[in-house]
Amino acid sequence: MNDPHTPWNHIRGMQPQSFCDWPGHVSAVLFTGGCNLHCPTCHNAGLAWHPEEHPLVGRETVLTHLQSHRNWLDGVVITGGEPTLVPGLDQLCRDCLDCGLPCKLDTNGMRPDVVAELLEQDLLSLVAVDVKGPWSKYPELTGKACTPEQAQSCLEQIFALSKRYPGRFAFRCTKVPPLSEDDLAATKTLIPTGMELTFQDYIPPRPH
Ligand code: SF4
Repeated sequence: MNDPHTPWNHIRGMQPQSFCDWPGHVSAVLFTGGCNLHCPTCHNAGLAWHPEEHPLVGRETVLTHLQSHRNWLDGVVITGGEPTLVPGLDQLCRDCLDCGLPCKLDTNGMRPDVVAELLEQDLLSLVAVDVKGPWSKYPELTGKACTPEQAQSCLEQIFALSKRYPGRFAFRCTKVPPLSEDDLAATKTLIPTGMELTFQDYIPPRPH
């Protein structure tokens, strides 16, 4: 029943309607549990590190909502946690597309191979990638889950994909406390020419 290889058994939250998760789109937002990073500034720490504490939403609940609201929705945002960890993510995208709704993926960019496969299958309309800061700050920014070399290698593969699939990528950086103005300026230089890096203010998570 609870087959971990089914992507639907990793959906731990759904926002039925959002106006801010996909600019210009009214979207349904699906939250996957689990993450490969451990950012001290994480806003979804419970979902990222203790997904089993969040009940599954269920395929039928999600697809019933998508089908019955397809005329009011413009797309589906798949976010987390880190959605690229979910096995069979392509099937999840296909099920959303079968409802007539395109998909946006939010990712930390640490699994570029998964993003590449989804793009090759034309399953994603937009990929929003968090660029957390200069490579040297990745250990501090990710709770030591990632070395500068790993961050650089993965994100440079993502940047290469953004050139291969123009118009399909958005890059953003959150101005978390460890980042200085110099760090923010250095982060901007990492982004491929012609692409933008959007900075967003950091709002500390509310204490539980
Ligand atoms: S990558 Fe995102 S979800 Fe994962 S720990 Fe960092 S902020 Fe949280």
